Amino acid sequence: MKEFGYQRAGDVSGAVAVLDADPEARFLGGGTNLVDLMKTGVERPARLVDVRELPLDTIEEVPGGGLRIGATVTNSDLAAHPLVRQHYPALAQAVLAGASGQLRNMATVGGNLLQRTRCGYFADVSKPCNKRDPGSGCPAVEGEHHNHAILGASGHCVAVHPSDMGVALTAFDAVVSYETADGPGELPLAEFYLPVGDTPHRETALPQGALITAVTLPPAPVAGHSRYRKVRERASYAFAIGSVAAALEISDGTVTGARLAFGAVASRPWRARAAERVLVGAPATAETYAAAADAELAAAEPLRDNAYKVTLMRNLTVAVLTELTEETAR
Ligand SMILES: Cc1cc2nc3c(=O)[nH]c(=O)nc-3n(C[C@H](O)[C@H](O)[C@H](O)COP(=O)(O)OP(=O)(O)OC[C@H]3O[C@@H](n4cnc5c(N)ncnc54)[C@H](O)[C@@H]3O)c2cc1C
Ligand code: SF4
Repeated sequence: MKEFGYQRAGDVSGAVAVLDADPEARFLGGGTNLVDLMKTGVERPARLVDVRELPLDTIEEVPGGGLRIGATVTNSDLAAHPLVRQHYPALAQAVLAGASGQLRNMATVGGNLLQRTRCGYFADVSKPCNKRDPGSGCPAVEGEHHNHAILGASGHCVAVHPSDMGVALTAFDAVVSYETADGPGELPLAEFYLPVGDTPHRETALPQGALITAVTLPPAPVAGHSRYRKVRERASYAFAIGSVAAALEISDGTVTGARLAFGAVASRPWRARAAERVLVGAPATAETYAAAADAELAAAEPLRDNAYKVTLMRNLTVAVLTELTEETAR
């Protein structure tokens, strides 16, 4: 492991100034991803700026509705918060479906959004990987890719984003706030992750050295009736091979509002807008839900060994929407 400096950030402007002056420095949240990658040599920062003591650890109601979640709120505190559980239950469920209790106690909201892919080639510095070493190639396209992308990938990288939290935040139109040496900025989560294209090493639209300060959820009454379902290869402590965050509003047997996002299918949490368009105004039936899933998955381009994900995501979507429908009827 390369030697590195460590310092605790005392305030936001001081933290941002360190990264502005030293592009080799990185912010440290819970360290549950960054430190692992430093041990294997994937990440080699010269300095870590620990942001956990910054005053960014609260969850507050926004006047007019919605929630502002500080970037250093831990995953455990986020999932346990009464307002999150009441108004955005799929978000609490998504967070609880990730990692383990110990990891969730350490992991932060900012770090979760910026965690790196779990592609095995990315994690192995003896292998080529366009994301880690631009221009070196993507062995996953022809190699081990059973848990790689079916949507929005390119021949340059077929990795998926591993966050569960990000899938629910995407369904609910979250906005990321950040601070740089030039001042504050905001990015809707829909624009936060960049398309893969031929630059898979450029993962987000965050400016260089930006500190995420908060994530804001706008008011969304539909989110109060939402659910997150995750499929994984063992019952706990595993990343998704497919997941769905869904919210549904039904009136007189017709879908009047819907939110849908998919996880573990693309380089970013995937908002299923084509499916939402099919849902709203249609009868609240399993046939509609299957048609909605099909509309979204029509764009799927599975690889040799991951076509199962298309069927999995279709079934998962129908199952989650049907569960939400049955709850409405009760
Ligand atoms: C065994 C294991 C299983 C896991 N399972 C799951 C799972 O099922 N689902 C899931 O979603 N996740 C899972 N995770 C990942 C875990 O959720 C992430 O490691 C964690 O959320 C990262 O948060 P952190 O605060 O520890 O980030 P760190 O490791 O501290 O940082 C990650 C990245 O974010 C940057 N960063 C951190 N905070 C900020 C900030 N405020 N502003 C700007 N940059 C920042 C860092 O510089 C770094 O690049 C698992 C992890 C492990 C080790
Ligand atoms: S899928 Fe992406 S992360 Fe994995 S080897 Fe290819 S370029 Fe690297």
